[in-house]
Amino acid sequence: MRHAQDGRPLNIALLQRHATDRYFAAPGKPLFNRAPATGKRVAVVGAGPAGLTVAHHLAIAGHEIDLFDARRKAGGLNEYGLARYKITDDFAAREVDWMLSTGGITLHCENALGSDFTLSDLREDYDAVFLGLGLSGVNQLDSIDIEPEGVCEAVNFIAGLRQCDDLSQFAVGRDVVVIGGGMTAVDAAVQAKKLGAREVTLVYRRGEAEMKASEKERQWARECGVSVRFWAAPLRFETRNHQLTGVTFSVMQPGPTGLESCDEQFTLPADMVLKAIGQTFDPTPVAHAVSLRQGRIAIDDNGRTALPGVWAGGDCCAGGLDLTVDAVRMGKLAARSMALALAIPAADAANATAFQERIHG
Ligand SMILES: Cc1cc2nc3c(=O)[nH]c(=O)nc-3n(C[C@H](O)[C@H](O)[C@H](O)COP(=O)(O)OP(=O)(O)OC[C@H]3O[C@@H](n4cnc5c(N)ncnc54)[C@H](O)[C@@H]3O)c2cc1C
Repeated sequence: MRHAQDGRPLNIALLQRHATDRYFAAPGKPLFNRAPATGKRVAVVGAGPAGLTVAHHLAIAGHEIDLFDARRKAGGLNEYGLARYKITDDFAAREVDWMLSTGGITLHCENALGSDFTLSDLREDYDAVFLGLGLSGVNQLDSIDIEPEGVCEAVNFIAGLRQCDDLSQFAVGRDVVVIGGGMTAVDAAVQAKKLGAREVTLVYRRGEAEMKASEKERQWARECGVSVRFWAAPLRFETRNHQLTGVTFSVMQPGPTGLESCDEQFTLPADMVLKAIGQTFDPTPVAHAVSLRQGRIAIDDNGRTALPGVWAGGDCCAGGLDLTVDAVRMGKLAARSMALALAIPAADAANATAFQERIHG
């Protein structure tokens, strides 16, 4: 109705923000009370938005949760991935503390699936398992083998800055080139500019319309003084005495079989290059035990993987939007499905498992 009256939808995100900001500023009564203990144990791997959502929902339902994360702190990309200039305070850590305060969740940081424990261990020890592993791999530039010092992953640059206590010790180049066209590229470029880089140039191999970063983000980058160049792919890094001095690009154009080089080149001076050419799912920790689709974990509409007793959600799964809000949505759907499965008596659960195996093939 509001939409019809004003011609604009309600801004639900801002309303939610208002409500949570007020609550966190002066917490009153707890927002959630745990149901009586069920005696069921759940392992959640990955303490990013997806894993935290599942842990919280199932803990409220009375289950006992062990939440594992490979990193030193929980929060996932909210803690390590969002650029520092976007963050007003330690909101990610405060949200995690608040979630843990409800009870029922034991956090085990620096505990990685694949090296400290395996998926079979979890399936043996717990009544259900959730995987919210995010994207821990990065794409490589296939055109260039050797990367001199000064070339680094944009995600590592952002994570390093987020965890840095003394910004005066944080190195940023004078001439920074960012390679990529997505949200990470924009974040890294804007962040480098705000840290005092003289020139920041974001270079994308296709045209503006194909950039994954939204129009708003592109506009924001330009307003912050970032130069943006299109239709150019990195060819080689230039060095003098092993020091990075620039990047040579090949000018590209669309061709009948995809992108084509136009035999034209240019070099941008650079003492720092940030690569932001996309994150990937690394299946090594799940040792190929779960089925993949398009390089990520295959799940059904309720977050169930093909492996009985194992659910997954967030960026590590196929079919998502790679956004926080979507990771939380997937976490909620999985938690609902897990809660239903945990409520089924053992004999019925065996039948449900057989059914699940049949539908996943
Ligand atoms: C630079 C950048 C900017 C972004 N900006 C926005 C934005 O403005 N708005 C937005 O909505 N989204 C944004 N996103 C996307 C958003 O951050 C993700 O979609 C969201 O964090 C996904 O949540 P997740 O829980 O699936 O994964 P993650 O947040 O990646 O969490 C995964 C967790 O799993 C842990 N883990 C991984 N492997 C293992 C293992 N083997 N064992 C144990 N733990 C493991 C990781 O340490 C991590 O804590 C951005 C992403 C990036 C990279």
